[in-house]
Amino acid sequence: MSGTGPEGWEVVIGLEVHCELRTRTKLFCGCPNVFGDEPNTNVCPVCLGLPGSLPVLNREAVELALRIGRALHCRVQSSVFHRKNYFYPDMPKDFQISQYDVPVNADGWLELPSGKRVGIERAHMEEDTGKTTHVGGGGRIHEATFSLVDYNRAGVPLVEIVSAPDLRGADEAREYVEELRAVLVATGASDGKMEEGSLRVDCNVSVRPEGTTELGTRCEIKNMNSLRSLSRAVAYEAARQVEVLTSGARVVQETRHWDEADGRTHAMRSKEEAFDYRYFPEPDLVTLSPSDEWISAVEAALPVLPAERRRRVAEASGEAPGSEAVSTVVRLDLDDLVMAASSAGADAGLALRRLANEVAGALADAGRVSLDPAAFVELVRMEQDGELTPAQARRVLKELVAVGGAPRDIAGRLGLRSLGSDQLSSVVEQVVTDNPREWERFAGGDDKLVGFFVGKVKAATGGNADLRAATELLRGRRSQSGPSTT
Ligand code: ADP
Ligand code: MG
Ligand code: ZN
Repeated sequence: MSGTGPEGWEVVIGLEVHCELRTRTKLFCGCPNVFGDEPNTNVCPVCLGLPGSLPVLNREAVELALRIGRALHCRVQSSVFHRKNYFYPDMPKDFQISQYDVPVNADGWLELPSGKRVGIERAHMEEDTGKTTHVGGGGRIHEATFSLVDYNRAGVPLVEIVSAPDLRGADEAREYVEELRAVLVATGASDGKMEEGSLRVDCNVSVRPEGTTELGTRCEIKNMNSLRSLSRAVAYEAARQVEVLTSGARVVQETRHWDEADGRTHAMRSKEEAFDYRYFPEPDLVTLSPSDEWISAVEAALPVLPAERRRRVAEASGEAPGSEAVSTVVRLDLDDLVMAASSAGADAGLALRRLANEVAGALADAGRVSLDPAAFVELVRMEQDGELTPAQARRVLKELVAVGGAPRDIAGRLGLRSLGSDQLSSVVEQVVTDNPREWERFAGGDDKLVGFFVGKVKAATGGNADLRAATELLRGRRSQSGPSTT
């Protein structure tokens, strides 16, 4: 499962992400938009497509679509709803109301933690379909004994976000989905739950010889319901296409279905069999023209988005915005603590390291942690001032995360206190005097022996010495004594 793809080939990916909007009601009727209710309880003549019923556009859904558009730096424009006609049992009207040639949001971009900007071609509004469950025969339609249809999802508002073919390989596709999910959750547009189908990813994959610029023929893969399946499907599909091309055949543009169980993609329908959707403007809805005031208000109310948060943390801590530590603390919502350290004048770089390592680790173990910003900043200061050694600070932090309290009290209770610099100097003098032959070798230039002396200091102080400070003292003493004297 490599992120770079097959040797000598470049993997090109464009993603279509369907995002269910977190509205109270559906897109064109007042039925509740809730996941997991008893089937067919949240339905009415509009979302069941009964004759004579008329759609009324949900203002809250438009508001969320606008948030998505502005968060993705899209141009928001007057847009038109179309009917996309096809027959399927989960779609009671036999058409889906969607946006076709004039989407509400167009031409934006999403910035990945790596700093790369991925083009967003469009982010348009449409309604969701119902949900079909095939019963018997392992859930596959052609082996099922019967099928059940739940129309609770029919008419739930969606925004479909279509990326440019800017992604290269499975890892970058995954990075994109994670970043997009973070943005959608931050704007309040989505709950981001892939496992509940709130975010559904279709993936267009093609390959081309490395160094060439023309796009290869793509296949669209459907039915991946986790980031892991996305990575696996891309890896499988890219390898399959390379094999087709190297055997001298051509890739056929088609829609393929990812089978989680056998780890392969299977052909569903080719371009020739593709539906003709007979799009035409929805006659029961007018053009959607959000006012400039509305768009500005939406924009002003947007929260600080992950890319900007990474930039702030990077600036405060002196780390690169694309670094693992920076993206980790933002992803885990710990970046406020870095900023708290920074604005209190404490060492924000040290705060970042403790958060990205120890606190992130505790979070992974416990699922959630609460950390009082003032207490955390206090601890960073204690370590920074040498009051606690790094090892001691980690120990106190563990306690702080697990039970809370004041770092100085915790350190006192655990008997943790770094030696003062006078005490440390005298310990260093003592170990040097006790080991004259080793000192001679160290002073003569054998730098490996620094580890020997640091080990002695550690043993002599029961771990309460700042070993980095001890190392500096040893080196300082050597340069003062000069290489030839003992
Ligand atoms: P359609 O109308 O068939 O859905 P689009 O041109 O709108 O096709 O593209 C859909 C998605 O496919 C977009 O995300 C786009 O980036 C991606 N895409 C287009 N061409 C390629 C290609 N050659 N390789 C990979 N992805 C592609
Ligand atoms: Mg498409
Ligand atoms: Zn309804």
